[in-house]
Amino acid sequence: MPEANNPTESTNQKNEQNLAMKIHNTEISEPGYTKVKIRVGNLPSGNEINIFAHVFHSGKPGKTGLILAGIHGDEINGVEMLRRSIDMKLYEGLISGTVIVIPLLNIFGFINFSREVPDGKDINRSFPGNSNGSLAARVARKFTKTILPLVDFGIDFHTGGESRFNYPQVRFSPNDDRAKLLAEAFNAPFTIAKTKLPRTLRKTAFDLGKPVIVFEGGESKRLDGFAMEIGIKGIRNVLIHEKILDGTPEQVSKSVNILRSDWLRAPEAGLFVWSKRSGVFIQKGDLLGEINDVYGAKSTLVKATSEGYIIAHNNAPVVNAGDALFHIGYEI
Ligand SMILES: [Zn+2]
Repeated sequence: MPEANNPTESTNQKNEQNLAMKIHNTEISEPGYTKVKIRVGNLPSGNEINIFAHVFHSGKPGKTGLILAGIHGDEINGVEMLRRSIDMKLYEGLISGTVIVIPLLNIFGFINFSREVPDGKDINRSFPGNSNGSLAARVARKFTKTILPLVDFGIDFHTGGESRFNYPQVRFSPNDDRAKLLAEAFNAPFTIAKTKLPRTLRKTAFDLGKPVIVFEGGESKRLDGFAMEIGIKGIRNVLIHEKILDGTPEQVSKSVNILRSDWLRAPEAGLFVWSKRSGVFIQKGDLLGEINDVYGAKSTLVKATSEGYIIAHNNAPVVNAGDALFHIGYEI
């Protein structure tokens, strides 16, 4: 009944205001660190579910950067990457502004080894959210109302989906000049102009005038040291670019600008073995892998149909016809 909902909504709004004040107050007080608990709901068992925001503040005016991972609960590489970034004291000694680090947003998915929340909905397709909507919409709304208003820019960490390995890459919206500058400062091996999908965090942040870039590296449910190394260097490079950290940016590689991409798909079903993997430049006709018949009677070669860079590949050993095998990126 509406009468019963109103007090809850009013309490939620009050809690969100208190939370925003708590984070904002840390920004303008002494330099230091605050761990802020953001309640997002309960499990059916009654256990409270809280997101933790680690707030590092310089005590000086400046920009507030958001470093976020785990919006997809099975993309663990970003979660571990941000844990390591805190552990290695990356955010200590800030020269201006504030950094808000949220290593894990989708706790519901994380404890179920799932990309989505338990009803199957994707938080990153539920923005800007709704406090009376599905669980994914409620988490998205809490984030939109409490965190987004406080930040000037953000980096959102992801991995490839099930069995798909993404070579470390940063994505920005082609019509967002500030995001492009952040992406270039990050200096990942691939810098990719990619249109925003509706109802994503990146789209909602853009609508609020806040540039957010998306890092993709590794695959879901796995850790990848190389992707973490690139990601942590990228955070540091962006924070130096935004004058939050002091130092010299570390050029990890020559970043290749990718303007468009498509997937090379399996011509047959069978056992897939790749011979070329992500990160390399390929010429038309290069042998990329083969798909073998289970009984050994037939082998289908998978060859490049054009020249470009492999920016992601499929590690699944069993494929159906039409399954995505190689994500090919093009400079033109
Ligand atoms: Zn993701």
